[in-house]
Amino acid sequence: MKKIALLGSTGSIGTQTLDVVRHYKDDFQVTALAASSNITRLEEQIREFKPKMAVVFNEDKAVELKRNIQDLDVEILSGMDGLIAAATEESADIVLTAVVGMIGIRPTIAAIEAGKDIALANKETLVTAGHLIMPLAKAKGVKILPVDSEHSAIFQSLQGEKRSQIHKILLTASGGPFRGRSLVELKNIQVEDALKHPNWVMGRKITIDSATMVNKGLEVIEARWLFDVGLDQIQVVVHPESVIHSAVEFDDSAVIAQLGTPDMRLPIQYALFYPDRKPMHGEWLDLFKLGTLHFEKPDMEVFRGLKLAYEALEIGGSMPTVFNAANEMAVAAFLDRKIGFLDIPEIIGAAMENHRAVPSPSLNEILDTEQATYEFIESRW
Ligand code: NDP
Ligand code: MG
Repeated sequence: MKKIALLGSTGSIGTQTLDVVRHYKDDFQVTALAASSNITRLEEQIREFKPKMAVVFNEDKAVELKRNIQDLDVEILSGMDGLIAAATEESADIVLTAVVGMIGIRPTIAAIEAGKDIALANKETLVTAGHLIMPLAKAKGVKILPVDSEHSAIFQSLQGEKRSQIHKILLTASGGPFRGRSLVELKNIQVEDALKHPNWVMGRKITIDSATMVNKGLEVIEARWLFDVGLDQIQVVVHPESVIHSAVEFDDSAVIAQLGTPDMRLPIQYALFYPDRKPMHGEWLDLFKLGTLHFEKPDMEVFRGLKLAYEALEIGGSMPTVFNAANEMAVAAFLDRKIGFLDIPEIIGAAMENHRAVPSPSLNEILDTEQATYEFIESRW
């Protein structure tokens, strides 16, 4: 039986992970659950999955939860210390990181140091600290198993292959709800429009990231760290049906891809059962029903966020942290209706222009860069 600590259990990935666990009760046991403030959903999860430990990042909410579940034998913690305790809880074999944002860095590093395998959904962590996390995982002999659907597809396409023989990674992108639109058409986009993703139901932040295509930019950087490839070896391919989840082109011209319905439970269960494959409880792919698949080049002038990601990766060092932190702050402001849709890439570009990259930043330098980026953006408001 595999023991799982789940960070971000109340979110989109978190609840789908628990759905997989629910279907495979004899294979998994949940040791720890962590959320930010949704104690209603967390309490339901605690009652169903009976973890040893539950973490609510928000301290007041943690106190409230403690009061509500006095009848249960579960340790309730809060804050960053709580997240780190959940990530390093002794009995866990694997930590599934599904918190949103670079808040995941410290718990992920702590989990690796404690020798836990990582099922990684929280891409912002790898984008900002990939240069620390990948060598640490190697040194500790722990696996980093991608949960992001594209990276899972690449990982699956690489099974039995030599990474040194990768010619190119073909990273697919749905193109989001605004594929094919012009800049003028994007000017007055409202929050409701941007929250309507054509293929996937996800958390609010990643849904906005998909609409701006910053998500694909984050995924380019994530792929760079996960698969140790150069920038020029990652080609984004817009594929509106989201059926080919990504592919690898090898040195002999062969292209190997993974296909499936757009359902995150497949990459989640692949990471949790790796290297085994188990029946999937959901819709299966029907090529006859599908008929045709389409492919396009990404428009980096309209979706400037993607172009900026390539620039951030090329500059390297602390620049991807600026790219990510500026995006986190801009997306939160857009969701609060404080800024417009096109202000998101504008803010990222301005923050990057203002920053002088630190090569190979330490954890503290990454967190300082994050803070400095927030301060710079605030100073412009
Ligand atoms: P959601 O917004 O749906 O969920 C985020 C989860 O993280 C919630 O459980 C939230 O708790 C929790 N959380 C947020 N901040 C903290 C914190 N400080 N401490 C503890 N818990 C916290 O996001 P998603 O599930 O959509 O995405 C999670 C990650 O996975 C992101 O990095 C995203 O990019 C990535 N991802 C998501 C995909 C998807 O299909 N959704 C696909 C591929 C990658 P609360 O509910 O209390 O706020
Ligand atoms: Mg993805």
